[in-house]
Amino acid sequence: MQNWRTELNRLCLLLSLAAVIGYAVGHVSWVLLISLCVYYLYNLYQLRRFNLWLNRDSSESDSQPPESFGLWGDIFDGIYRLQKQERRASSYLANIVGKAQESSAALEMAVVMINKQGNLDWWNFAAEKLLGLQHPKDRNQSITNLIRNPSFAEYFHSENYDETLKMEAPGESNKTLEFQIALFGENERLMIVRDITQLHRLESMRKDFVGNVSHELGTPITVIKGYLEAILDNLDGLDEKWHKPMHQMQQHSLRMENIVRDLLMLSSLETKGLTKTQDVIDLKSLFSEIQSDTQQMFKDKMHTFELVCPTSLCLVGKRSELYSAISNLVVNAAKYTPASGHIKLSADKGTNFFNIAVVDNGVGIENHHIPRLTERFYRIDGSRSSDTGGTGLGLAIVKHILARHEAELEIKSSYGEGSSFICRLPLSRAASNAIDDKQSQTSTDNETQQVYSDSDI
Ligand code: ADP
Repeated sequence: MQNWRTELNRLCLLLSLAAVIGYAVGHVSWVLLISLCVYYLYNLYQLRRFNLWLNRDSSESDSQPPESFGLWGDIFDGIYRLQKQERRASSYLANIVGKAQESSAALEMAVVMINKQGNLDWWNFAAEKLLGLQHPKDRNQSITNLIRNPSFAEYFHSENYDETLKMEAPGESNKTLEFQIALFGENERLMIVRDITQLHRLESMRKDFVGNVSHELGTPITVIKGYLEAILDNLDGLDEKWHKPMHQMQQHSLRMENIVRDLLMLSSLETKGLTKTQDVIDLKSLFSEIQSDTQQMFKDKMHTFELVCPTSLCLVGKRSELYSAISNLVVNAAKYTPASGHIKLSADKGTNFFNIAVVDNGVGIENHHIPRLTERFYRIDGSRSSDTGGTGLGLAIVKHILARHEAELEIKSSYGEGSSFICRLPLSRAASNAIDDKQSQTSTDNETQQVYSDSDI
């Protein structure tokens, strides 16, 4: 501001001097015009110096601004100061970017930055090794053109990256990669890719091992069980002291058979995908079948069963698997509900899910056990489960089957009061039964509600 005033004063002084000289020589306007031209040429000269300095060679980027005074001196110094600040900031940023690049280059996992158009922005060295990206040729190329795999394209465009994607490496079928994407900024993506070949191999070995061992154990157990049954049928010829051990052996061989059966089931669920053709399951009849099978198994307990299901509701999925999952829950309810207890099996279409619930008023489960119940072999009380013939694999099987049907299991319980096991299936798995639909139109109440007790079977 100070220099502005000085500059204005200088201009005024120049013009006054020119006016006095002009007056003395008798050509005021000419002398004024000449003095203004001189002032203009001076400014033009300073502008030229400024321009030359701004456009100097990049090798002299640090050179001092031209020497000047007054307003021009101020402008030169101000611009020089700004340039220095900007240079410091950009060298700081370049340093950070350099460090980030160096550290990510040292990573074994691929890091890829993708812009909002889905094109490659930047990637580290591991990305070149794992995904075959080439620098700089692939910069700005669409990622889905470079990784040509339908499941990758589907995952990439889904914008739902809660789960990772596991698939073969592009062009290397013996390598398994795990992709994880995170959204940031304006729809930009950071993609991390890990080589999980070894882990995948170990996992398949584990699955094969469990499958093979269970399969191999099946025959010996059947033979042992057969002999034990034959011996127990002819107990009269056996010394009294062997009766109890024989019964115990039979009980344990039965338990072993159940474990092997459940392990085989789990192993087949893990290794075989869900077939494309699926069944349209009439829930009403599925519920009745499960209820009658369970009542047969627990005849002595005299439970009352309540089935609540809209008559026209059908479920789309694999019938044998869903029978097994729901039946596991109902059998558990019967196992862990004392005699004369109540078991309710219901289905309803909510706003977000298609729910199938098994509710009992049995022993209940303490809260801290609930998160671990679906783990393999997790049992709350080993002795109680062995008494009931439990293997600790039932809920793991249920969880697997539900996951294959894009569903989840929710468990609620109050200790000593009872438990609810709710299967939350996607609404797309609900279908309506056309025949029953017609029938239900004539009915005022479109829910079937039956209360059975042991005397009904
Ligand atoms: P198990 O074959 O031992 O029943 P599961 O995996 O089916 O194994 O169940 C795991 C554990 O969860 C059981 O040991 C049992 O203690 C508990 N559980 C399952 N269902 C119920 C239920 N309806 N009421 C109380 N406890 C239950």
